[in-house]
Amino acid sequence: MKCPIDNTPLSQIVVQRKFLREIKLDICNACQGVWVDKDELSPLMQHFSVDSDKT
Ligand SMILES: [Zn+2]
Repeated sequence: MKCPIDNTPLSQIVVQRKFLREIKLDICNACQGVWVDKDELSPLMQHFSVDSDKT
């Protein structure tokens, strides 16, 4: 997988949390972007409360 912004090959890291299954993150070393697959994002969203109504 490559970064959609600068086409740099992404480094994949695996985050393992005690109460979550492992989550794979793709990190771009060029722009420090973090790309998460949709399937990987949902457990994160359950873990962190995302309140989009607050500004
Ligand atoms: Zn990038």
